[in-house]
Amino acid sequence: MTLRIGVIGTGAIGREHIHRITHKLKGAQVVAVNDVNTEQAQGVVRALDLEAKVYTTGAEVIQAADVDAVIVTSWGPTHEEFVLASIAAGKPVFCEKPLAVTAEGCRQIVEAEMAAGRKLVQVGFMRRFDYAYRQLKCVLEADTIGAPLILNCVHRNPEAPGFSGDMALTDSCVHEFDVLRWLLADDYISAQVIQPRRTRLCDDDSLQDPHVILLRTRQGVHISIESFVNCQYGYDIQCQVVGETGTANLPEPASVPVRREAKLSFDILVSWKDRFIDAFDVEFQEWIDATTRGEMTGPSAWDGYVVAMTSDACVKAKHSGQIEPIELPECPDFYTN
Ligand code: NAP
Repeated sequence: MTLRIGVIGTGAIGREHIHRITHKLKGAQVVAVNDVNTEQAQGVVRALDLEAKVYTTGAEVIQAADVDAVIVTSWGPTHEEFVLASIAAGKPVFCEKPLAVTAEGCRQIVEAEMAAGRKLVQVGFMRRFDYAYRQLKCVLEADTIGAPLILNCVHRNPEAPGFSGDMALTDSCVHEFDVLRWLLADDYISAQVIQPRRTRLCDDDSLQDPHVILLRTRQGVHISIESFVNCQYGYDIQCQVVGETGTANLPEPASVPVRREAKLSFDILVSWKDRFIDAFDVEFQEWIDATTRGEMTGPSAWDGYVVAMTSDACVKAKHSGQIEPIELPECPDFYTN
């Protein structure tokens, strides 16, 4: 069976996902697309050689009789509307982050999905599908280093064009917030945000860069995330888990060690697209396969809600200078299996 997909939003990441589904992955076909910019959507259909109908609204894509499942890759503030409409239509929906731009919007989606009685929503937290993070999780689950006590994490981008205000916390760190609680199978209870000396190499005056985010989990694990989105030198994601009997580090992307002119060197990637390209492929192949089986196995609407609560608490902590509680309701049974 071929899963027939409708895509809403044919901007940068929408185009990439359509390309991977059409030319790299198996079991699915993009049959419908929409973007507010209809000409751009038509251009994508032509450029990627798709047999897909271009609709003038996202709602029409969701309602189309030949669309089995929906991918939402439009502008963040539109996600909530399209995810709710997909749930109402009884169609599985993959939504790029954010699930909604407010925690309240995410909670509405959680409630609508529970009312529908069936898991339909997956959120685009692709790090859970990354080989390196999966290896690290296997080491922790095998109890190789005892119970985790401390996580030392780094999230560095060479530059962040268009970033302003609190976007480092609400746009890029959301991936850290999701993957770390998945890694630990734990939840956060508080957040603190330290604002060190600000880099001069930052375009936007309203952007604090770097930040140090301190999270505490229910089991007492202390997490430190350095977020530095104008670090200049590369895209660098690090995670070290300190356990009772040892430490475990996120494997570095493979790179050829070069010995030359009295130096040993390795390349560092510069783009998140290159770092996580394989993870995106695995994420979508698993979503296609699970959706075809009538299942939903990836990050859920609940995970999207928890991340929104966490980033809200970080923004609050940044501005208050205090340790702020993260008061999550108990996870409903609907999402615990
Ligand atoms: P983008 O290039 O701006 O693409 C978004 C597209 O959605 C644009 O073509 C935009 O049109 C269109 N759009 C806006 N409102 C719409 C509506 N009501 N109906 C249909 N289309 C609409 O942005 P992007 O970089 O692809 O990002 C899209 C989403 O993916 C964002 O939420 C972003 O956070 C997420 N994302 C996730 C990752 C990840 O690591 N998982 C990476 C990149 C992006 P106009 O340009 O004409 O407004």
